[in-house]
Amino acid sequence: MNNGRNECIFLWFIENYSYCCHENGEPLLSPDFTFEGLEGTAWYLAVFPRGYRAEDKGNISLILYRKANDVGPEVFTIEFELSLLAVDGPALYCRDSICKFERVGFTHRHLLLGEPAPLCTACQCQMTVLHILIECQQFNHQRIRCFHTFCITLKDILHEDPHPQLFTFLKMIDFYSLI
Ligand SMILES: [Zn+2]
Repeated sequence: MNNGRNECIFLWFIENYSYCCHENGEPLLSPDFTFEGLEGTAWYLAVFPRGYRAEDKGNISLILYRKANDVGPEVFTIEFELSLLAVDGPALYCRDSICKFERVGFTHRHLLLGEPAPLCTACQCQMTVLHILIECQQFNHQRIRCFHTFCITLKDILHEDPHPQLFTFLKMIDFYSLI
């Protein structure tokens, strides 16, 4: 507590970081964390050792994510500071931000506002439109039911007119209400 504000520090130690052989866009995820003053919101960090986007190659990306299914308010504002610390040295990187986080699990906000895409809880890769419609293995069952195959391409679904089963598919995987 400080000036009536709740503050907490979450420290995440990554062992043998120098041996990480992650590709660009591939994250390392921290355990989830929460804290009394966070009103039921839950959080995790993602480090992308080879950068988050293609243009971040050669850099390390560090992103704070809010869990999609926490019990906190719809919109929650926090002030946070992200730092990367070397084992034996000062902060390699440090940045303060104040952000509003909405409890929205999916991709449209990311597409509209250029915010980082949330991560798929099943695959831990970025939850892009492509991932939801085509790639994510957890929806193969629904893909077979709607499209009669799980090997489809974006062209099959979105070419000229959207596939007549597209909205059925989105409803089936519980995404429709979030779009
Ligand atoms: Zn997935």
